[in-house]
Amino acid sequence: MERLTNLSRSISGRVAIITGAASGMGRATARLFADEGARVVVADLGQQRVDAVVDEILAVHGADSALGVVTDVSDARQLEHLVARTVEWGGRLDIVVNNAGISVINSPFQDAEEFESSWAQTLDVNLTAHARLVRLALPHLIESGGGRIVNIASTEALVSTAGLGAYAATKAGVIGLTQSLAVELGRHGITVNAICPGPIATPMTAAIDEESKATYARRRVPLRRYGDPEEVAHMTLNLCLPASSFVNGAHIPVDGGMSIRHT
Ligand code: NAP
Repeated sequence: MERLTNLSRSISGRVAIITGAASGMGRATARLFADEGARVVVADLGQQRVDAVVDEILAVHGADSALGVVTDVSDARQLEHLVARTVEWGGRLDIVVNNAGISVINSPFQDAEEFESSWAQTLDVNLTAHARLVRLALPHLIESGGGRIVNIASTEALVSTAGLGAYAATKAGVIGLTQSLAVELGRHGITVNAICPGPIATPMTAAIDEESKATYARRRVPLRRYGDPEEVAHMTLNLCLPASSFVNGAHIPVDGGMSIRHT
């Protein structure tokens, strides 16, 4: 059918790396991107968990729709392997979704050893890994001609919870990194954006009991509920569309209105 507009809303045939894709929002994103015709690289810890998501995708979209690469994103050499294996398999790399993250208690009340280790671990996984993966993917994203990077931050970058100092610092850092990369990479036609999810029902929040979640959502979230991982995945997809070619350096809350609520 003839169209009246020019910009495409399809990521069909694009090759995308999604970190933390064995669980929660990463898994939802991998499944959605595959549904939209992308070839998806599922990167996460643990062979069985990675294989499970790859098998889900292959069962629906057939051979060559997904590749699993077990990756600890805090290890620079494993990130190198991830990019090399992706390009070997996919022949290109168009999209990077830096999604893997951890939420570990970090507080000035902790003893020195606990404080140092929770701080270092959170920085490595939630922030340094994002920068490293972008650096390694860069030549391929430039070659792609319309590279897309989406970094998953958090509303904890905007409003804060006690005991999550390192988490909040890394998520605010993700926004800073996103903005700097957006300015630096724009001339190559690469867009770099961040998403700030609010409370989302994933394994990361599974340990919070249902009653506490319901109370929190009722009091804090205008939509009065936790979000679904797929609701975040759709925003990630939007930012990766060829049609989103002029959205650059943004950080977009997907939080049911939580972060803009006053009373
Ligand atoms: P999730 O279900 O725990 O998924 C995160 C995935 O990342 C897990 O599979 C986890 O593996 C993996 N991962 C952790 N460390 C890794 C490492 N070193 N290398 C590779 N993979 C690693 O959590 P989620 O809620 O979907 O979180 C996804 C992103 O959204 C994170 O960046 C998180 O900070 C952010 N976020 C979450 C919420 C929320 O309410 N859920 C809100 C705002 C932002 P393991 O399970 O083995 O640790």
